[in-house]
This record gives sequence, structure tokens and C-alpha cells, in this order.
Amino acid sequence: MCGIVAYVGPKQAQPLLLEGLKRLEYRGYDSSGVAVVGDNNLKIARAKGRISVLETKLNDLGGLQGSLGIAHTRWATHGVPNETNAHPHRDDTETIALVHNGIIENYTALRTYLEKKGHKFYSDTDTEVLAQLIGELHNGGLDLESAVQAGLREVTGAYAIAVVSVKEPGTLVVARKGSPLIIGLGDKSYIAASDASAIIAHTTQVIALEDYHVAKLTAGDDGPEMRTTTIDNVEVSPDILDLEMSLEQIELDGYAHFMLKEIMEQPQSLTDTLRGRIDKREGRVVLGGLNTLARDLVRARRIILTGQGTAWHACLVGEYLLEDLAKVTAEVEYASEFRYRNPIVEDGTIVIAVSQSGETADTLAALHEAKERGATALGVVNAVGSSISRETDAGVYLRVGPEIGVASTKAFTGQMTVLTMLALFIGRRKYLANDVITKYLEELDRMPEHIARILEQSDYIKDETKKVVDRDNWLFLGRGYNYPVALEGALKLKEISYIHAEGMPAAEMKHGPIALVDDGMPVVFVAPKGSQYDKVVNNIEEIRARGGRIIAVADEDDTQIEQYAETVFRIPHVPEPLQPLISVVPLQLLAYHAAVLRGHDVDKPRNLAKSVTVE
Ligand code: GLU
Repeated sequence: MCGIVAYVGPKQAQPLLLEGLKRLEYRGYDSSGVAVVGDNNLKIARAKGRISVLETKLNDLGGLQGSLGIAHTRWATHGVPNETNAHPHRDDTETIALVHNGIIENYTALRTYLEKKGHKFYSDTDTEVLAQLIGELHNGGLDLESAVQAGLREVTGAYAIAVVSVKEPGTLVVARKGSPLIIGLGDKSYIAASDASAIIAHTTQVIALEDYHVAKLTAGDDGPEMRTTTIDNVEVSPDILDLEMSLEQIELDGYAHFMLKEIMEQPQSLTDTLRGRIDKREGRVVLGGLNTLARDLVRARRIILTGQGTAWHACLVGEYLLEDLAKVTAEVEYASEFRYRNPIVEDGTIVIAVSQSGETADTLAALHEAKERGATALGVVNAVGSSISRETDAGVYLRVGPEIGVASTKAFTGQMTVLTMLALFIGRRKYLANDVITKYLEELDRMPEHIARILEQSDYIKDETKKVVDRDNWLFLGRGYNYPVALEGALKLKEISYIHAEGMPAAEMKHGPIALVDDGMPVVFVAPKGSQYDKVVNNIEEIRARGGRIIAVADEDDTQIEQYAETVFRIPHVPEPLQPLISVVPLQLLAYHAAVLRGHDVDKPRNLAKSVTVE
């Protein structure tokens, strides 16, 4: 999920690697490290925190000498961010070193296999398994390239890797599946990286490695050589591309803002959230982090979901899901209110704290309060090793990668996805039939594809937003599962475009807010087909009768809605419990375009901070 830089050539590797790592810093990371192969030795330095900490460490060591090396910034998915878990990882004979982006799904099985063979593990990462496995094969007689190929044939999951061996001091092996990796063709050298920004200062000639491909890069006396194969050792010839982007463009991957990039990343981020966690064949949800608490979850009398802001909206969706699919009493509390309200926590109460950063001060305080009163505490957070993840009894990580834009988007869809899996995890152990679960799992698996389709409407959403962007008051309405989405749509618009917007249950509008509706006031209805569709249509009529301008989020095959709405954003039809996961996407784009059209700095909205660490 984070950064890789690797070099083989005539120059000293360390300075080039550090410079490359710094170019990747904007992505966010929690630790870093380098490994350099010198004369008959392999040296590794790693550090928790900023790259500057690693630099100081390297200076104290007098630097690592050698012209072959790999480097990494880690954004932890398995194991807390500390020096032991930082990359590069090595095998237990210290023959090879490896850096990895992504997730090895079958790491538990591989680890057990390797432990039985006598290998000693030192970290909690999924990555170390790969290092030990490739080390074992390499020490067993395979050259580095063949060992990497053979190792990767045993692995499921996502990876971009770079590997070096003390036994082959002129060879760098890189490979990928599902995580990006490109190879820059330098002067008598190769510099490989997860991201073009680490390469562009050296060369514009690159090869974008494809899934399941392995490249062996050597830079001996006869000049640089590259051999590219599949993991089954079939030779392939990759195309050479010319990078024409500026550094800044590359960091944003061609997008104008991180928020837009993160909205557009959602098909991938949801794939990562779901990776290895749904077993459609068996109709099971696999949430390793919850295994020890499965019994408590099944016997829970009450689940309290708590968070702030967007996370609070995810909690609301969670409440519907838990009651509907897991048949457990659920409530949502603003963490800030729960904390000071003298809350009642009875036997069998589970508190779930939801937070992107895992550092939200209010949510952390609520968690302390709940624990003190005897609740079992669960965390749903993005940042591995964050305070909330450390202080909960168990939890599930979002794995959506670093979120840089202040307005949360991919973390929100990640939170809802995790809560959906949680509801199915509990539901399966209670009343939900297997075929029902299987149906939901199949639908969940299609979410990334659905979101990709919705994102294609971005230009259309922009054109429609243009028509109403000068209006200063908006309403967002929805019912049932789509009520929290209405709240989130309004919050997104407020946060970045500074337009006043209110979200509420569609029926509530009649009890006061309808007085606000005047000629042309934009009213957004989140109205996919479902049990309350007809009621929502009635509410639309009520607004139209008072001159409101209707913008609807509706199913692709809903032709009726066109009679009522000036603008319709289309989403694929999915079962009601899964609707929020996709119905929010057009509203993220709407808010984004409105803010850009109004000329605001989308990634740094006024008065807001990414992670609110004060109460
Ligand atoms: N899954 C690996 C870990 O947690 C790699 C994380 C990354 O991509 O930075 O160490």
C-alpha cells in the first residue's frame, strides 16, 4: 500500500534510495527502511516514524556501502508500526532481503508450513512469510530469480516486491500482482519503484510491470540487462513507455486533487478491504481480528457504535445493518456525547469505535469510558497500530490505504464495507441462512465494479452541478439505509464547498425544514428502489409542489423517477443493505465538483483538520 524504491547500477545505492523514498513521502507511511548489498554482505537499517529518523540512524552507522539496494516506506496492514515490523524483511539465514507492498492473503498457512520446517519468525507481518519462503527456496539451490518465481506461485494476495540476495550481488529481482511497480531504465542502471515520482528525476524511460510478471535486473561490467518472465518462467517482452508527467502530476496520479483521486480509487480500495475476507463458496466472512471475540459478538445484548463526523454516519449505516442482518440491538452515539452522558453499559454490551485515523480524541475518550464501565471494545479503523486499534479488545482494519484529502471518501466506503461484513459475520452465527449470506457476499464482491461504473458519470455530475452551484441552501433526504447517506452527502458539500446543506430522514422534512424550500432550491433525494421507494416519491412530490429542484440518486433502470427529477444520478440496483455503499459515490462527486466550481482548495478546506485529536 505504500512505497518501494530499488536500485542496481554503478553508483552508491543508499543516497538514491533515500531520495526516492522522500519523493514517496506524500503518500503517508509509518516506518521506513533500506537494505544494501555490499562486498559479501547484506546490511539492513529500519526505523519507526519519519524517513529523517532512518537517515539519522544510517548516519550513525556510517552509511550502507554498495551499489545494489532496496528501500521501503511501510503503511502497516499486518502488525503494528514498529522497527521489527518495518521492511526490508529477511529470511532467517540473512541471505535475502525483501520489500513488499500489498497483502499476502494466505500468510497464516505459509507461516505454519515454514515454522514446521524450523524457520524462526521475528515479526508480525504477512511480508516476512514471503522473505522466509523465498529464502528457503534460494538456499535450497534455486537462483534468486527462480526462487522468487517459485515462491510467488505459492502466494495468494497482492504484492509488489523487490528482492536482493547476498549470494547474487549484482542482481535485483522485482515482481508484481495487484500493486503497482515500474522499472526506470537509467544510464547503466535500473531504478524500480512503486510510483513514478521516485523515478522521474533519473529517467523518463520506464516499463510498467504487469501482474504475475517478474523482472531480473542486472548491472554487471557488460552493462545493464533485464529479463522479464511470468512467475511460471515464460519469457515476456514488455513495452517501454515515455513518462511525460511532472512530479506534482505524478503524486496526484494525474488528478487535480487528492480527494478526487481517493474517490476514484474506491474500486481498488474496496477490493483491498474485501481481500481474503469473503468466502463465497462457503458463505463465510473471514475476519481474523474477531475470532477471539466471535462468541461475545454472537451473545451480545447490545452493540453501541460510536464515532464523529463521517465515521458517525458509517455507524448509522452499521446500526441498520446490525439490526437487519445480525438481529442485535444496536445504537449509535456521538462519541463526544456518550463520553459525558453517564452512559449505561450493561452486561453483554459491545462498543464499536469507528475512526479513519484511529486517533480521534472524542472517539478515544468514549472508548475509555465504555471500557471502564465494563464494555467489550472493538475498533474499526484505517491506521494500523493507532491508539484506538491498540486500546480495543479486537478489531477490523479498513485497509483502504492512506487517506490524504481532508474530506473522507474511501475511508467511509471502507467503514461501511467492514460493518456489512461484521453484520454478516454475526448474522451467520445466528439467523441468517447460508444462501442469503452467499447472495450478499456475491453482491459485495461486485461493489468495486459497480462503483467503477458510477465514477464514469463524473463529467455528467459536474455539468449538472454547474446548474445549481450558485445556490446557498441545499437539502439532502433519504429513508432507511439511505438516510445516513443523505447526512453524508450534506456533510461533504458543507465541508469543501461551504454551501449550507442539511441532511435528514425524508419524512422529517415535513416537520419543519420544508419551510425553507423556495423556488429552485436544490433538494437531493437518495432514492434507489427499495421498501420505501413509494414513500420517497411522495416526499419528492411534496418538494416539487413548493418549487424545489430535485436531484435524485436512482437505480439505472428506474424510468419513473425522470418525471419528478430535473437531474438523475444513476447507480446499479443492489439489495437495500448494500445501497449506501454505492449511493454515496455520486454525492462525493457532487460535493467535489461544487467545491472546485466555487474555487475552493478541496484538499485543505478552511478550518478543518484531517485527524481531530482534540476533544
Ligand atoms: N502488508 C505489509 C505489512 O503490513 C505491507 C504493507 C505496505 O504495503 O506498506 O507490512
